[in-house]
Order: sequence, then C-alpha cells, then structure tokens
Amino acid sequence: MSGPGFFPAGARVAVLTAQPLDRLLDYTAPEGGCHAGAFVEVPLGPRRVAGVVWGPGQGGFDTAKLRAVHRVLDVAPMRAEMQDFLTRAADYTLTPLSAMLRLATRAPGLGDPPSMRRVYRLGGAEPDRMTSARERVIALLEEDSTQRFTLGELSGLAGVSASVVKGLARQGVVVEEDTPRDLPYPRLDPGRAGKALTGEQAEAAAALRTGLSAGGYATTLLKGVTGSGKTEVYLEAVAECLAQGRQALVLLPEIALTAEFLTRVEARFGARPAEWHSGVTMTERRRAWRMVGEGGAQLVVGARSALFLPFRDLGLIVVDEEHDSSYKQEDGALYNARDMAVLRASIAGAQVVLASATPSLESWANAQAGKYARLDLPQRFGAAVMPELAAIDMRAETLPSDRWISPTLRKAVEARLAAGEQALLFLNRRGFAPVTICRACGHQIGCDQCDARMVEHRFRKQLMCHQCGETKPVPSVCPACGAEDRLAPIGPGVERLSEEAATLFPEARIAVLSSDLFGSARALKTRIREIAAGDADIVIGTQLVAKGHNFPLLTLVGVIDADLGLQGSDLRAAERTFQLMRQVAGRAGRAEKPGAALLQSFQPEHPVIRAILSGDEEGFWRAEAAERQAAGVPPYGRMAGIVLSGPDAPAVFDLAGRLARADAPLRRIGAQVFGPAPAPIARIRGRHRVRLLVKAAKGAALQPALAAWAAQIRLPANVRMSIDIDPQSFY
Ligand code: ADP
Ligand code: ZN
Repeated sequence: MSGPGFFPAGARVAVLTAQPLDRLLDYTAPEGGCHAGAFVEVPLGPRRVAGVVWGPGQGGFDTAKLRAVHRVLDVAPMRAEMQDFLTRAADYTLTPLSAMLRLATRAPGLGDPPSMRRVYRLGGAEPDRMTSARERVIALLEEDSTQRFTLGELSGLAGVSASVVKGLARQGVVVEEDTPRDLPYPRLDPGRAGKALTGEQAEAAAALRTGLSAGGYATTLLKGVTGSGKTEVYLEAVAECLAQGRQALVLLPEIALTAEFLTRVEARFGARPAEWHSGVTMTERRRAWRMVGEGGAQLVVGARSALFLPFRDLGLIVVDEEHDSSYKQEDGALYNARDMAVLRASIAGAQVVLASATPSLESWANAQAGKYARLDLPQRFGAAVMPELAAIDMRAETLPSDRWISPTLRKAVEARLAAGEQALLFLNRRGFAPVTICRACGHQIGCDQCDARMVEHRFRKQLMCHQCGETKPVPSVCPACGAEDRLAPIGPGVERLSEEAATLFPEARIAVLSSDLFGSARALKTRIREIAAGDADIVIGTQLVAKGHNFPLLTLVGVIDADLGLQGSDLRAAERTFQLMRQVAGRAGRAEKPGAALLQSFQPEHPVIRAILSGDEEGFWRAEAAERQAAGVPPYGRMAGIVLSGPDAPAVFDLAGRLARADAPLRRIGAQVFGPAPAPIARIRGRHRVRLLVKAAKGAALQPALAAWAAQIRLPANVRMSIDIDPQSFY
C-alpha cells in the first residue's frame, strides 16, 4: 500500500469532519497508513468523531504534538471526484465544507462492520384472531412484499408495540430471519425491451443514447407536455447508462411520486432500484449509501440529497420536473439540486437530462444559449390530447359570500359527475381558512413567534402557523377584545372548499389531498393510488396534485383562484403561476377521454393568464426573458439574498446597516447592495429578520466577493446570517 495519495504511518494529514468548524484539522496517519479520501475516526477533545482524510496536513503545528487518527473505517474511501464536488458546491453556495460533508454522510453506522440483522417478512400462516394492530402490521408487509423491516421499524411504522409483531411471529404470520445488513440490490437488466416508442419519442431517446455513448459531460433539456412520454424516453437513457456498466440517478421532486416510478422501473428493468429519501428506513439508508459506493446499486431513485451519495461511476443524472421549487433546499445548506446535478455531472463526466413540461426560465435560457441541448416532445402519447383551457371571468359570476365555486364551474363539475368521470378542484392553500378575524374588533389571530397569521385547520381542530408549525386551539373568545363567538374564518383553504363541494355535490365522493392531512408519505401514496383507481369523484388538492401523478379518470380541472400566485413581488411569480397552472391543467385528460381546464380569475386579461390559455409557451418565455434581461436579474444577472436574524430587532438592523455600508469588496466586482429592509416575513420563531439583496452582472465573481464582504463583520452569537445564492423565493 503506497503510491500517490497514500500517507504512511505518522505522516501529517488534514482531516475534514462534519463538526461545525470552518477548517481542516491536522492529525498523523495511523499505523498502516491511510489513503486520501479514507473515512476515519479521529479524537476531538474528549470525543471521537468521523471524518475524511482530505489531503496532506497543513502544518503550523509541531508534528510531535499532533494526535493520531484513531482508526480507518471499513468504507470505500471518498473519491477525489467527490471531494472536488463537495469543495465546489461549498464554494458556490458559500456553505462550510463541514456542512457539505454532513450532506454526504447521511447514513447511520457507516463505520460499523458488516453484520447480520434480524428482519421480518410475511409468512404463510393466518393469525388465530385478527386485531386492528395485527391488521396494520400485515397490511404494511403486504404493501411491498420485497421489503424487510427490523422489529423497531415494523412496530414503529405500523404503530404497534413490539409484542404484537412477536406474537405474529410465534404464529408464523410473520417470519423472522437474519440477513446480512447491506446486500447488493437485485440486478436491473437494461437489455429488456421497453415500450415501442413513437417516432418522436424514438428520436429523442436516440439522441440521449448517442450522448451517453459519446461519453463525457452534457446537459439536455427534455421538454414535453405532460403525458408525452418523457419518462419512457429518459428510461431509455437509463438503459444505455446501465448497459455501459455505469450508475444512474433519477431525482424526483416529491416522495409521493416514487411509488409509481419504482413500479415503472421494475416493469422496464425487472427489479427495483435503490431508494433514497426521508421516507426510507435507516437500515435501508445505510445499505443504499454503502452499495452506491461499492457498485452494488446501479440505479438510485431519490430526493435532492441523493446527489451527495458516493457514486462509484456516475454516468447519468435525470432531474424530473426540473422546474420544481422543492429542488431548492431552503434550510441549512442552500443549494438547488438542479444546478448541483449539473455541477456533479460536469465533474464526473456524466450526462444530465432535465425533464419538464414547463422548464424553469434558467434552463430554457441555457438551451436558447446553446449551453444545453434541447429535445421536444410536443404531443401527448396515444389518443390523449392536451385539455381545452378556458378562463371563468369571476367578475361576471354571481356567488354568495363565502362561496368560491362559480356557477359555471359547478355546471362543468356536474357534467363530469353525470358521465362518471373525475374532477379536480385545485386550490393552493392548505387548511380551512387562511385568516381568522374577530368580527367585533377586527383583530386577526397571529402567531406569537412569527409575523404571520395563524391558519385554521378544521380537520385537526387547531390553528397552525405555516412558518414555524406552532399550533394552538381555536379560541372561542377574541384574544384582543374578549368578545365571545365573534371569530370568523376569512377566505378558503382546501378544507373549507371541501365543505362547499359537499353541499353543492351531495352525492359525490370527495377526497382532499393536502400534504398536512397524511401522517406519512406511505399513507399519502396509498390514498393517491386509490384515487387514481377511481375511489373518488371530486379531488380537492393543493400543489401536491400538480406533480406528475397519473389520474386516468380525471377529465376536468377547476382552478379556484388562478390569480393567487400573481400577487406578491416575487421575481418568479409569473413563471411560477405559468408553470403551476400548466401542470395542473395537464392533469386532465391523460387517458383516452379529452380533458378541460377552467381557470377562475378576476383578471383574465392578465398577460400570464392569457399566455396560459393560449398555450403560447415560447411566447411567454420570450416575454419573461426580455423583462428579466431588462432588469438585469437571473438568469441574466446574478443575485444573492442575505438574511440576518436575531432576537433584538434594532441590533439586527444596525448590523445589517453596517454591512450594507461596508460594500467595498462588492463594488470592486461592480455589484450593488440593496437594503437593509425588513424581510417579507419580518419575524420567524421569535427572530427578527432583516434582508439585504446583492445584484451583480452575469459574469461577476460573486461568491468570493460576498465571502470577503461578509467576513468584515463579526456576528454576535445570537445573530445568524444566511446567504442564498440565486434565491428562489423571497421571504
Ligand atoms: P410524461 O413523463 O411526459 O408525463 P409518461 O412517460 O409518464 O409521460 O407517459 C404518459 C403515459 O403514456 C404513461 O402511462 C406511459 O406509460 C404511456 N406511454 C408513453 N409513451 C408510450 C409508448 N411509446 N408506448 C406505450 N405507452 C406509452
Ligand atoms: Zn409561527
């Protein structure tokens, strides 16, 4: 064991740990030496922490005084390529490297030796008697018969005590067995035939296959209307990648979408791939992490954090629904998974496919500029055609107060019900009512911790703050004036809309799909499957339903408030509304039955609403691009959002003011600082928030200038600063 990147025992090495320190720590290599990239355990004060040997030590310290690496973990070392990716991602997002390492090591017990574990699966026997607890255990195991659960997972997920599982095991209803912890995933067979592609699809698939055979990095924007077969096409690219013996990663924006996708992968390649998202059990996570690193996983399907898995030989990253705002991590390390996918692929020499019916303006512009290739699938597959789109001019409709379904929309829904088809009523607002007001004094119930109103959630019988999650019971007395029984809900949320629908359509089976109404991703998945199979006549949903689920019986989409997203000063308001409305409308008429989408609007002449209705997408993007270009904002200029927050408002303002005045490092690159101003949500969890905005020209080296600028001011311990490069939202 020697060669470049090998450190013999006693040599000075620099170790990166996931501890919140913004520097590498020097140690001496342990007995037997270690390689660069090795995962190690090192002493830090009285503790031992995990880390990665990042490179040669930095010096400055007497080697004799350095402590030695405690041990090298039995894990495939981090590749130089991954080190490079983490470093560049940290530089780009101005995130400490230690936080990047945390993202890259999100699996439990990485250093533990391979071992056996006791797992449970369904046996053949019938229980002597059925209880609801037993039923839940069996239902869970039946849902996916290939899954194996530990005792803790099984009882936790089913919500039963361990003794229930043990009891079932004694009767042979479930079977206990010992398996090695980290088994390779079953082989996917890329040689199996896919669906017979249409001419258009085949052309797009061939272009992607050619890119993969050519090797090296490239990004392709795969733009196709909902239902045009984008998934079929990119699965061909996955097949090509697997056939080359390289690994592929498919990112999905929503966990609830994975179930359907896994089924499609299984149908296409004969087995299920590795899964990586917050709904995956800890033991599975560890297995996925290790197998990705050792090559025992060919394909990973996951959420944005799957980008930080230790792939051995990554050949392809697909970002499905690439415009989706959930790809932007808004907590901790602020990164956009779409951009990080492109970065990772460019380092790994991999191909990227960005799939969307309504691409982000960034990707559209990159394709226009020739940085990305572009493939179009303008037609829906088979008989399915794009839905008819029309506006309902709400100024011409008469509605009683506290009603939101117009007579025109009502008639359209009734027609679908009569035909035995499904209708979707779309409203992007969770809960019962966004505002609760006192009719006596006008007081609006707000969150004590945030500058936000509490939202009534009637199903849960409580008020909830959508900023911090704080809840309280709905009071009967106004907290401001003491008037009794004068509190009234104002405006609709999906729960209130479902009440209205129940009155208007008493015979219909109504299902509400909103992320907060389901205890787990699993429960939500199950409900979506039931609805798709026809177990509801009217679906009332938030943006959750806009994302790629197939509802074959759905032929009408009614958008309750198409104007909702157009308010507000957000730079992306128009783009978001356009994408969301097109996506929602795309839910209608996916099978043989033609669909229609009706948009209730008080301003049907608004350019964005007109663009949605006319379907002139290129026209919309050109106009939107021209506006942003004129304003010098992304993607034609660079931006960073800085938020300072702390318990004391004047102190935070003062600090922000000092920062704004110390703008020399920014002026050097021609950047400008705007603010300070109270953030749109001026208080969250008791912390006052002050915002600065930095704008620079497209080519400017923004990050180093920002780093130098921010470093000028020492923050008191109770003030936090977050820097968001390319902010997606302003809050
Ligand atoms: P998108 O990803 O663009 O929304 P999908 O790939 O999900 O589209 O295709 C929509 C539906 O049409 C899916 O049920 C898919 O299986 C089916 N489909 C698409 N192309 C074909 C094809 N060439 N042959 C058979 N079925 C297809
Ligand atoms: Zn709050």
